[in-house]
Amino acid sequence: MDGTELLEIFCRRRDKYLEVAGVQAVSPIDFSLRISPTGKEKDPPHLTIGVGVHGDEIQGVQALNQILDESYDALANAQQPVLFVVGNPEAVKLQRRYKDADLNRQFSKGSIDATVYESKRAAELERAVQGTRYLLDVHSTIAPTRKPYGIFPNRVDLVEFMHHLGTDISDIILVDILSPEEGMCFDEHLYFTDPKCTPITIEVGCLSDGQSAVDRARNAIYGALHYTGVIPGEVSLQQYPTLWEEAQKVPNSKDSSLVLDLVNFQPVEKGFVLGYKAETPITSEYDGIIIFPRYNNSNVPTLVRIAVQKAS
Ligand SMILES: [Zn+2]
Repeated sequence: MDGTELLEIFCRRRDKYLEVAGVQAVSPIDFSLRISPTGKEKDPPHLTIGVGVHGDEIQGVQALNQILDESYDALANAQQPVLFVVGNPEAVKLQRRYKDADLNRQFSKGSIDATVYESKRAAELERAVQGTRYLLDVHSTIAPTRKPYGIFPNRVDLVEFMHHLGTDISDIILVDILSPEEGMCFDEHLYFTDPKCTPITIEVGCLSDGQSAVDRARNAIYGALHYTGVIPGEVSLQQYPTLWEEAQKVPNSKDSSLVLDLVNFQPVEKGFVLGYKAETPITSEYDGIIIFPRYNNSNVPTLVRIAVQKAS
């Protein structure tokens, strides 16, 4: 199914909520749906679900479309204000990561570049989600990954939120803000501007995982709807997440290259040869896991990172 079709389905299902009298549903910005219980129409969203912030990561959009259809009655009677939003619909249409610039680096910039679609969209999103108590931003990875994972800073409420999604995602890559000068991600924006908000990003699998990643996204969204009390439902708790923190960063340079087929979450031992700088081997300094190996990209500053399990 292509991106345009997915958006058409989203709009058809959204419009069913908008058209029914008695359901407090609106679309505050393009490709969004906000449902509020009576009396809470003016409140900020209690929960925001983001999908399609990267236009080629369609599994979250597929999962959301399914939920809007199959849980119509429960959502039409939402107990808390909930906002569903397709982050970058123009990129979903194009089936590309972004149209003009990576939306997930456009938040918290403070000014809008009118020539960049994602710059305007980020400002709309910031307005629509202002005051949200929770954010679940659903992504998929382009490169293969041996495990799905959460990616956000080390704060108890964030870890607890991911745990209470009740999915099989049981690993978190801890990050500090990646690159503030380049603009923030959706969740980072809320993390840094609103200390009362609990915003997380999850990677439900890689694009080629297909339906299994759609199912995981669906489970995660239901987990968020249940945990935050938007709709009634049980959360069955899985294994408590394992936290990973970056221990080594291999800088990129013209004469550096990685050995083939390094994969996210691949375990490595200290001394494992990661690549070469000229003729000299670059080795892992830790027993840990590979994170974010970068192939075919001469522009990235970091070739690969090693993460180790955070001692609890
Ligand atoms: Zn993404």
